[in-house]
Amino acid sequence: MNPIWKSTEKFILLPELKLLTHWQSAKFRTHYKCRKDSQFEVCPKCATKSYSVHDRRWVTIRDQPIRGSGIELRVLKRRFRCPGCRKVFTEPLNGVRKGFKTTERFRRGLRWAADNFADIDRAQRAYGCSAGLVYKVFYEQLDIKWHERMNDPWGRVIGIDEHSWKKCRKNGFTEFASLIVDYDRNRIAEVVNGKTVETMKNALSYIPGRERVEQAVIDMCDPFRKFISEFFPNAIIVADKFHVLRLMSPLINKARMEITGDKRKNPVRRLLLKNRNKLKYYERNALDLWLVEHPKLKEIYWFKEALHRLYRTRGSRKAEEAFMRLTDSMALSQLKEIKKLRKTLMKWRKEILNYFITRLTNGKTEGYNRLAKLYQYRAFAFRNFFNYRLRLLNA
Ligand SMILES: [Zn+2]
Repeated sequence: MNPIWKSTEKFILLPELKLLTHWQSAKFRTHYKCRKDSQFEVCPKCATKSYSVHDRRWVTIRDQPIRGSGIELRVLKRRFRCPGCRKVFTEPLNGVRKGFKTTERFRRGLRWAADNFADIDRAQRAYGCSAGLVYKVFYEQLDIKWHERMNDPWGRVIGIDEHSWKKCRKNGFTEFASLIVDYDRNRIAEVVNGKTVETMKNALSYIPGRERVEQAVIDMCDPFRKFISEFFPNAIIVADKFHVLRLMSPLINKARMEITGDKRKNPVRRLLLKNRNKLKYYERNALDLWLVEHPKLKEIYWFKEALHRLYRTRGSRKAEEAFMRLTDSMALSQLKEIKKLRKTLMKWRKEILNYFITRLTNGKTEGYNRLAKLYQYRAFAFRNFFNYRLRLLNA
């Protein structure tokens, strides 16, 4: 045999195979006729060496394409008869799982293609196989990848958020998934189908090291707070800064609409919602002049600014004092909206103030939430939660 072929043989074929001949059947399909070159095989049942070949048969195995050309290995497989137990067995092949018609690297490559090509159709064409196989192999490979990290314990910092993953148009039913993000390892720790305390507990009980979690960020959502305090004994809970600040927006918008009507284009809308520090000098003047005529809105507006000022304080001691001042002045307000807001703030007092100790926000979790939505669009929605979860765990 040509010596160049000798060295490329190992690269093109599997490690144990010897090349007999090769030919091209079409522009993009190459066939390699080969056989395994071993003196004996070991019986899988009783581990006895066997030298006696019972018979031979041709097997076709699909392999990873090279330079765009699909590859088919035609392997002359021997069957041995075991001298110990008299059973007949087929010789195994390194790189091909028992009973499979494709090599392991074909399946790994197919996963890569399904992940990186624009759609399944292109992956299918490049690998010359059916769409069903692409789909099957893709989730099979994701499952293998997930099993590699399955026993990893909890990280030190986590974030939890929810998003919808399935909408049933017929009866208007929406299913929610809870996303738990590992801030230390920068990845999704787990996805749970549902957002109640019980389902979360059941789905997450397999992960070891609950006591390792020290900090957990959430938006102001009661079930998540309850879940964390019951599930992670050492975790302090942080209420996400942006969710706290966003509590003000509906109050301002509602009070403004009582005055200007529901016009989003009205420039005063932007002036009211924007951070006062970022307004230009003349904008601030114009806003203040306008607010003189609308005392109710003016009051809400100044509470909004006070809340923003709270988040600009440095140090947890100072923040605690500022929080108390803010809620005290809210208690004096006659507006029922402000009273209601004060109640919410008091209910989440500890979690809001924990921000000034940890400086944690839910930004990372929101980022993964957006990614989850992106996968939903790309897949034209998921029907199966199991696949959706596998997709996200390998994001
Ligand atoms: Zn045997």
